[in-house]
Amino acid sequence: MLTDEDIKRIRKEFPILSREVSGRELDYLDNTATSQTPLSVVDEIKRIYTTSKANVHRGVHTLSQEMTALQEESREKVRKYINAESIEEVIFTRGTTEAINLVASSFGSRFKRGDEVILTVMEHHANIVPWQLLRDRTGIVLRVVDIDDKGVLNQEQYRSLFNERTVMASFCHVSNVLGTVNPVKEMISFAHSHNVPVLVDGAQAAPHLRLDMKELDCDFYTFSAHKMYGPTGIGVLYGKKKWLEKMPPYQGGGEMIAKVTFEHTTFAELPFKFEAGTPDFVGIAAFSKAIDFIDSIGIENIEAHEHALMEYTQERMMKIPEMRIFGTAPHKSAVISFLVGRSHPYDLGLLLDKQGVEVRTGHHCAMPLMDRLDIPGTVRASYAVYNTFEEADTFLKALTRAAAILE
Ligand code: PLP
Repeated sequence: MLTDEDIKRIRKEFPILSREVSGRELDYLDNTATSQTPLSVVDEIKRIYTTSKANVHRGVHTLSQEMTALQEESREKVRKYINAESIEEVIFTRGTTEAINLVASSFGSRFKRGDEVILTVMEHHANIVPWQLLRDRTGIVLRVVDIDDKGVLNQEQYRSLFNERTVMASFCHVSNVLGTVNPVKEMISFAHSHNVPVLVDGAQAAPHLRLDMKELDCDFYTFSAHKMYGPTGIGVLYGKKKWLEKMPPYQGGGEMIAKVTFEHTTFAELPFKFEAGTPDFVGIAAFSKAIDFIDSIGIENIEAHEHALMEYTQERMMKIPEMRIFGTAPHKSAVISFLVGRSHPYDLGLLLDKQGVEVRTGHHCAMPLMDRLDIPGTVRASYAVYNTFEEADTFLKALTRAAAILE
């Protein structure tokens, strides 16, 4: 378990945490949307821009070679972080959203009218809309798994949705609203017993849980660097080589070709076949420092600390009159979505902001889940490794005050 001294040392890496909001020390509890970035990552971006910037994979000159090596070292670091078989299975994208669009568009190009894709009601729009776009093009059918009162997926219903028309299942590892950690290993294994490939949206898992692609055995896994203490605009698509080799390119352009004539084009080897154009190579290189940061603390230590903060907070929140917490699954990550009585989430969010507490309000890009819960939105507080129990207390005090005002 991380000590107070450890957290103090970690916080020194994040200068933003000592800024003020509304005249009070910042209490940043919007980590599910994006986490803050340590100096090691910021310094690496600055170092590259000031000493080493050159386009990757295109030059024989020293700077280009150096930059290419940095980008590819980062790819290897990501491979190790998720325990993928090879770097050919690690594709850099702009984020989780682009990674899922890539799979829906490219892998989905094999689907036919009437084929069925299984989703769940707790998905982020990033794992709904790409499949709807595919539905509009091809006539596939989307089937949706429901949740119970605690925000746990209905596994019986999930299993019952599989039939001879099922071609894909795509669901989140961790819900960005409910915090529910889904039993993805079992769900993948069940899908595979019906020869159905699986995409796991890991945007909310990669910053908090140990990932092991070989053990999970999913076909695709997606996540974003900016939620993992890394730079914005970088994401990862992990895909099994056997699928990636068969899939058509998602975008065409430089980097992704072997030979181009006006008559015919052949494509580059993996992973470059799916990386058209100049990537954010500075961000990709700096992402490796974010992984170093996580590794230096230990992902299990991060998870334990965040979990302790969440339990501490949730337990005390329940004592506030008219508190409604959405998502109380037994296996839950450090996300708390809530409302107080009939008050609007924006009112609560504004009153918290006035007290220096930054939480997210609204539908959290999960409108179908809001419809399912029959609410317009929630307030959401979420923790990262640098958050403290003092910050949890500040939040609880501010929330108690806000709730009393809105009563
Ligand atoms: N999936 C989940 C579960 C998320 O929480 C998010 C972002 O909040 C996304 C997908 C989309 O991530 P990005 O906007 O980085 O592409």
